Amino acid sequence: MTRSYALAALPRAKISVIASEGTWQMFLSSMTPGGLARVASVARTAASTIAALVLAGCASVVPIVDHHQHVFSPSMAALLTTAERPFPEVSAQDIVAELDKAGIRRAVLLSTAYLHGAPGRAGDDTLVKVRAENDWTAAQATLHPERLVAFCGFNPLADYALAELERCARDPALRRGIKLHFANSDVQLDDPLHVATLQRVFAAANSNRMAIVVHLRASISRKRPYGAVQARAFLDAVMPFAADVPVQIAHLAGSGPGYDDPAAQQAMAEFAAAIERGEPTTRRLHFDVASIVDAEISPATAAIVVGFIRGVGPRRVLYGSDAPAATNLRPRESWAAFRRLPLTDDELATIAANVAPYLQ
Ligand SMILES: [Zn+2]
Repeated sequence: MTRSYALAALPRAKISVIASEGTWQMFLSSMTPGGLARVASVARTAASTIAALVLAGCASVVPIVDHHQHVFSPSMAALLTTAERPFPEVSAQDIVAELDKAGIRRAVLLSTAYLHGAPGRAGDDTLVKVRAENDWTAAQATLHPERLVAFCGFNPLADYALAELERCARDPALRRGIKLHFANSDVQLDDPLHVATLQRVFAAANSNRMAIVVHLRASISRKRPYGAVQARAFLDAVMPFAADVPVQIAHLAGSGPGYDDPAAQQAMAEFAAAIERGEPTTRRLHFDVASIVDAEISPATAAIVVGFIRGVGPRRVLYGSDAPAATNLRPRESWAAFRRLPLTDDELATIAANVAPYLQ
């Protein structure tokens, strides 16, 4: 089967400032009726294309796991809703419905409880809210125990970080791993105090045998430094404290949506080089591709993504699609875009079959 970049172009949306911190935070700030009609038309075209591929027997390669998903409780949805932009609640039922459409068996629900602990948002009742969101996420996952797993989220710089980690470690529904978001929590790998704090958090996760999923990309809206230097600091100063657990770097060390981010590419190049040199701290590193590849990816960026996948090896690459919110691609559409990368069939099959060690 020949792959091409003749992908249907969705209308470019205007993106709000916070969009830079994660795909699911992206909203259309304007969508005309014409734009909606184009989306509907693109969706119909995509559906018939997928149907044709199924008939041709080409669509049989489907990921086993979506390694990067989110649910949003009613209170989290309320927190993220503004006067101009409602944010919907997303339940486990919604995620399972999306997985079923894509033929994907399992998903990892990364708690967004850390949003309550973001700088400027935290207040007296922050810890109560963080716990509630983690517990709600865990309860959603346990509605579908065969298919969903929940990870515990918190701001690693918060004074309650270790306490919440230990609480999650004692909860069978949250003990598999933690999710950290360096952009949202404004973690800076150039700050020795931040690094020292991360060392304690990583060590605690390690001693509890909890995997770590980390959105490493520093804050774009705050213009924090990010690139090869920060990737190197992460490898040398932080990773040694989590030698016994898998560490999943989200979005190929970027942020999404898309991958036109030179800083993320420089960070990823540092990781790929470290892996090629066989550096011991890279032994348990994995990379998810959530929201990196969309229908609008240029051939040049697609070549960069493929280069990194080959640089780290497809066995370390975990499929993920990020939350089904706003314009973010749903698991089925996200995989349809991803599989058009100029990867070999073997490479694509390897990525689809990968199941993170923390799920095995
Ligand atoms: Zn995410």
